[in-house]
Amino acid sequence: VPALALSGVERTYRQGDSALHVLRGIELEMKPGEIVGLVGPSGAGKSTLLHVAGLLERPDTGTVFISGVDTTRMDDGERTAVRRRQIGFVYQFHHLLPEFTALENVSLPQRIAGLGQDVAEERAGELLTFLGLGERKTHRPGELSGGEQQRVAIARAVANAPHILLADEPTGNLDPDTAEYVFDILLRLVHGTGLAALIATHNLEFAERMDRRVTLREGKLIEL
Ligand code: ADP
Ligand code: ADP
Repeated sequence: VPALALSGVERTYRQGDSALHVLRGIELEMKPGEIVGLVGPSGAGKSTLLHVAGLLERPDTGTVFISGVDTTRMDDGERTAVRRRQIGFVYQFHHLLPEFTALENVSLPQRIAGLGQDVAEERAGELLTFLGLGERKTHRPGELSGGEQQRVAIARAVANAPHILLADEPTGNLDPDTAEYVFDILLRLVHGTGLAALIATHNLEFAERMDRRVTLREGKLIEL
């Protein structure tokens, strides 16, 4: 069963009197453990595709399958439940809660999922250590460097052991050396967990290190 599959997905935005057909029939299948680079210029529809794949936005037509399950007829509550259990997100900006420590930020998804504090913090601590942040667990986001903040955001995204990771320019806001370091550690984490990861990036060198690459051309997904 593919971890993530999109079939016939279309998405149009109204822009005044006209319509912008951003996605015009997307076909995508991702196996568990597969890392796919999503490349292409700004405005091509990468974020829209990630939002639809992550059940944050509904397609106008077409189907999103999460671990083989058709999400089309799910109501918003069911979609949220699937998203929380199965999908992790990383954005260009970390979106960490400023008043919470790194450990608390990473524990939060598991606490929301109903896990006890001890269990949640143990897993959060292991993840932070894996990401080289063992000495940063009690720091708040404002006390961390950009690369550290982004590593905390990555830890939070996988804290609930999702099957799918969706990342939108995860290193786009970092200087080149830090980006390289964060991208390496992200790849190692994904390889170690069997996650299917769809990673939008402008960095073609990073894309080359993924299992395969796709791009959006006139609303269709094309294998590179
Ligand atoms: P990318 O991530 O590749 O830069 P986006 O998916 O963000 O592309 O945007 C694709 C196109 O859709 C852009 O032209 C953008 O302006 C437009 N767009 C994105 N979101 C909306 C929205 N909520 N309403 C109207 N237009 C949108
Ligand atoms: P980078 O060059 O990777 O962006 P910085 O120069 O921002 O790193 O920070 C270097 C180190 O100092 C980092 O490990 C960071 O955690 C720590 N640090 C930065 N700002 C603060 C702060 N306000 N309080 C405590 N530690 C900080």
